[in-house]
Amino acid sequence: MTRVLVWNEDIHETKNDEVRAIYPKGIHGAIAALLSSQSDLSVRTATLADPEHGLTKDTLESTDVLIWWGHLAHHLVDDAVVARVQARVLQGMGLIVLHSGHLSKIFRALMGTTCNLRWREADDREVIWTVAPDHPIVAGVPQPLVLPRHEMYGEFFDIPTPDELVFVSNFTGGEVFRSGCCFKRGKGRVFYFSPGHETYPIFHRADIGQVLANAVRWAHVQTPHAVETRTSPNAPTNWFIKAEA
Ligand code: ZN
Repeated sequence: MTRVLVWNEDIHETKNDEVRAIYPKGIHGAIAALLSSQSDLSVRTATLADPEHGLTKDTLESTDVLIWWGHLAHHLVDDAVVARVQARVLQGMGLIVLHSGHLSKIFRALMGTTCNLRWREADDREVIWTVAPDHPIVAGVPQPLVLPRHEMYGEFFDIPTPDELVFVSNFTGGEVFRSGCCFKRGKGRVFYFSPGHETYPIFHRADIGQVLANAVRWAHVQTPHAVETRTSPNAPTNWFIKAEA
C-alpha cells in the first residue's frame, strides 16, 4: 500500500466562483477522487489552513508520496514546514509537484534554481507528447495526451537538467515545454508535471489520473533506508580493515 498525501493551498476555490464551480471539493478533493479507484493507494488530503499546513512530523513520517498544488500562497507556507518536507524527501519520501507549484518554496529548494517559465492564459490547445515510451509514468497514457484548452507554459523553464524527461508539450502558439520531469534528490524521487491550471477541469480527466497514479508508484521508494550514508571518516568499513591486514 502506498500512502499518498494530496496538499493544496485551497485559496482559488474559496475566493473565485469559476474555480469553485469546477472544483467544489477543492483541487485536492478532485485529485483524491481521481486516485480513489486505485486499490494500492491510500489517499489523504491537507491544506494550507490546517495546523502546520497539515504537514506535521507525524503526518510526513506516515506519507510515502506527497502531491503539491499551490499558486497564490507560496509565500505563506512556513519555512520550518518547507524544511521538514525537504528533509523527508531527502530521506526517501516521493514528491509530485503540479502546475504552478513550480514556484513553491519546496520545489525551488530542491531544484536550486529560480524555476521561472514563460506563460499565457489564452485557451491554447496543449499536446503532451511522451518522450520516454518505456518509462513507468507513461504506462496506459494516451500518446499524445491532448488538453483542448489550457494555460500555456513555455521554455525557457529554469530548472536543472532533469534526470529523466518524460513529457514534452507543445501549444497553439507554437511554444514547447518540458511538462514531465523526473529528479532524484537524496533518497527521494521528485516528479514535476505541468498540467493543472485552476480554471480548466484538468483534474477530472481519467488520463491525467493515470499519469498521477503512475507517478505516485514511481515516486514511492520502497526501501529508502537500505543503503545508509556514512558520515564519519573515522569509521572504516570491514572490507577496508581486511584490505589493510
Ligand atoms: Zn496556472
